[in-house]
Amino acid sequence: MRIRLTSLLTATMIAAAAALVAPAAPGPLAATALDAQEVTAIRAGRLIDGTGGPAREDQVVIVQGERIQAAGDAGSVSIPAGARVVDLSGHTVMPGIVDAHAHLSIRPDIRTLRGQLEGMEQHDAMQMARIVRNIRVQLMSGVTSVYVVGEVHYNDIQAAQAVEEGIIPGPRIYPSGNFISTTAGHGPAEYRTTNGPWEMRTFVRQNYEMGAHHMKLTITDRARVGPNNGTPYAAGESNYTKEEIDAAVNELHRLGIEATAHANGESIRLAVEAGVNSIQHGGNLNEDLMDLMVAHDVGFVNTYTIGYQGVFNEWGFLDNEAANIRDWLARGREVHQRALGDSERRASGRIVRLGQLIRSKEKGVKVGIGTDSMHGYMALEMENLVAAGFSPLEALTAATGLNAEIVGIEDEVGTIAPGLFADIIAIDGRPDEDIRDMGNVAFIMVGGRDQTGLSFR
Ligand SMILES: [Zn+2]
Repeated sequence: MRIRLTSLLTATMIAAAAALVAPAAPGPLAATALDAQEVTAIRAGRLIDGTGGPAREDQVVIVQGERIQAAGDAGSVSIPAGARVVDLSGHTVMPGIVDAHAHLSIRPDIRTLRGQLEGMEQHDAMQMARIVRNIRVQLMSGVTSVYVVGEVHYNDIQAAQAVEEGIIPGPRIYPSGNFISTTAGHGPAEYRTTNGPWEMRTFVRQNYEMGAHHMKLTITDRARVGPNNGTPYAAGESNYTKEEIDAAVNELHRLGIEATAHANGESIRLAVEAGVNSIQHGGNLNEDLMDLMVAHDVGFVNTYTIGYQGVFNEWGFLDNEAANIRDWLARGREVHQRALGDSERRASGRIVRLGQLIRSKEKGVKVGIGTDSMHGYMALEMENLVAAGFSPLEALTAATGLNAEIVGIEDEVGTIAPGLFADIIAIDGRPDEDIRDMGNVAFIMVGGRDQTGLSFR
């Protein structure tokens, strides 16, 4: 059973929209805010709605203010007089991409995992500088929603507000607040401190008080720090006890918000049995764990590109050389191909994982995808699903409607349907036939705001 709620973003946006239409409140700020009554009609040569259905030709989407008002055949949806018309009749229109595993401030590279997390110990001004850059790249890659799974100092909540106010361009941000992790567990040092059921509940309440939309627990089956880094615990054991996980999930659900968990292998069992709403990573899957996820209707978010962090050091190229998202994707593919060629272990490990992905889908597990801070690389995550045997349309669905469903935001984003946020992109090409066309993002709209035309630097 899913918990539904109006997110922090939504509540504030509704308040902002209400202020605009209230007759007494047309202050000087109103001119810069989105006009709640403004109507845009998008003519779509082809439309993929994100539910898994095939592309339909010659469609129209009507956007009023920040939401989709109508969508359907051009012959049956009439365009209101005075509407702004966006002609995408030569394009494939689809929902904006949902990145279901995002860390806004992290930039993984060839440093160790610990080194990567040490980036989170820098001053908040530096965290925010990276966030501004990273979310711009995400937006330009067609990502219109990011589901954050652990930041520090509530920087994600601050960034969500900055985007909402129009201070910086970016996708819709669903903030998680701070990581929940244990001593010797997985996460930034500052947050490897939450031990015992009552500390779990207190931490959840603090994150909630600051405005987290959901929270992530990092559950790991091995030590993550010090001389024991990488050493597995006894079989079936994890950093958190069942009692602690149960307490955190219970507290989250009492407050009416969702829990997601970093979990691989047997840790997945602990998390799912405690009632988490989704699994992040979901590595080392076997048939039993797949069956368990189906039985509990819990999906997992596969994170493929982050597996290349050990050979990836391209952030300078992103900031100083890449001209557009196609350049950035090409560099990512190049690093990936080289890494596979250089390491037989890596290549054979990938084949095992692709087998787990396709088997999960066959068994009915909801398979989503996320970049885990490989900003701009959702297209590569989709290409990876296609390599596993998913159809391009299934990969597109995983990145949109299904991702939204897995992390419980499907009432707001992920598909093109009346009432949802007008988070819409257009692709030059047919990504449902050739997934590589996802690099050709030609139009980007977030909540009715046209964000097309940003430059890469
Ligand atoms: Zn992560």
